[in-house]
Amino acid sequence: MTSTIVSPSPDDGGQGRRPRLVMKFGGTSVADLDRIRGAAEKVAAEAARGYDVAVIVSAMAGETNKLVDYVRDISTLYDAREYDAVVAAGEQVTSGLMALTLQQLGVPARSWQGWQIPIRTVGPHGAARIDRIDTEALEQKFGEQLHAVVSGFQGLGPDNRIATLGRGGSDTSAVALAAAIGAERCDIYTDVDGVYTTDPRIESRARKIHNISFDEMLELASLGAKVLQTRAVGLAKNHKVRLQVLSTFEDRIGSEWPGTLVCDEDEIQQKILEGEMESQVVSGVAFSRDEAKITLQRVDDRPGVAAAIFGPLARAGVNVDMIVQNISAGTRTDMTFTVTLADFDRAISAMEAAREDIGYENLVKDDNVSKVSVVGVGMRSHTGVAQKMFQALADDGVNIQVITTSEIKVSVLVERKYMELAVQALHAAFQLERAPRAETA
Ligand code: ASP
Ligand code: MG
Repeated sequence: MTSTIVSPSPDDGGQGRRPRLVMKFGGTSVADLDRIRGAAEKVAAEAARGYDVAVIVSAMAGETNKLVDYVRDISTLYDAREYDAVVAAGEQVTSGLMALTLQQLGVPARSWQGWQIPIRTVGPHGAARIDRIDTEALEQKFGEQLHAVVSGFQGLGPDNRIATLGRGGSDTSAVALAAAIGAERCDIYTDVDGVYTTDPRIESRARKIHNISFDEMLELASLGAKVLQTRAVGLAKNHKVRLQVLSTFEDRIGSEWPGTLVCDEDEIQQKILEGEMESQVVSGVAFSRDEAKITLQRVDDRPGVAAAIFGPLARAGVNVDMIVQNISAGTRTDMTFTVTLADFDRAISAMEAAREDIGYENLVKDDNVSKVSVVGVGMRSHTGVAQKMFQALADDGVNIQVITTSEIKVSVLVERKYMELAVQALHAAFQLERAPRAETA
């Protein structure tokens, strides 16, 4: 029987089977034999609680970089199928070592490579996507009380060759496997102990968040709070896989809830209803330091002009973020947009090349801006968040250059030297240093 990652096999929830848990260990968590042993002890502790565990491992820290360099040193025009054969090897080593260590601790386990399960992928070598996971063999072994150690980052392509998922892809492996086997939770063990209300290096009063919704996590991740691969969070959201981010260097295991739980909004609502936690309008302050702003002055105000601007940008591979079009003064208007600093030069040359087509008078560049955002699902039901944000920035003399909003986020563009100040001001204004009740446990 085959189960896809879209719908776990129907008898997954059936009588008698033990609950399942996915535990993913990143590169620093398996960096050497001591660390692998520490990770294996956590697996043993969860297994002792009655879980069938699927452990997903990354390569030892630095190992994948080394393998990538080997390939590139031979030729920069490498055969992507052989690249995958080489770079997938790091995970093969750690899965075997983890299985051996578990056996040593008296926990019956075996390793599985992506192709053995198999984890079927589609898309190009080096950047494949998981299409489906045949869990039959693995689940049968669970039935024989044999825990699974699965190599992250890799699968089997349509050409029957090893395929890898792109750098950082083992988070995605873990979420996809959790969906496929109907795991109760997917614990991501890493070198930080959770997701914070903002970057503690900027605001020392930043606090670990204990519960956050998928949507909020997606906004925070894409804005720089990079703990989890964004793609993995999207997948978890689609399949409602509860994720916990937690530290591998802490004594506590996932079932003791030391980390940040990323889950469905309904689950958070339920906890609020039951008095387990307080609702919060804003969950975090995200930022993106290296932004740039381009304004095209006195653009023709006519149908097709936006297409004439953003078409060439898209073709140049430029990712446009904020867009503001001014009210037109007569037949002309100004158009402002932001891009990352990395895309700035390409964006400018695309605009200069399209000058005649677009018909603007001046191009004004500013590569000295940052974006700061407040994020929270509470904005859906509470008004006044934007006002509070603008007031807090005004009180600290921070000028706002551009504003954009979504249902759960308000973003502003500020001069780069004010970015830290803006993050601190907003963190204080929304009292994010205060732990919502019952989250202190
Ligand atoms: N080992 C792979 C990498 O370094 C996959 C991962 O760790 O997520 O990109
Ligand atoms: Mg990672």
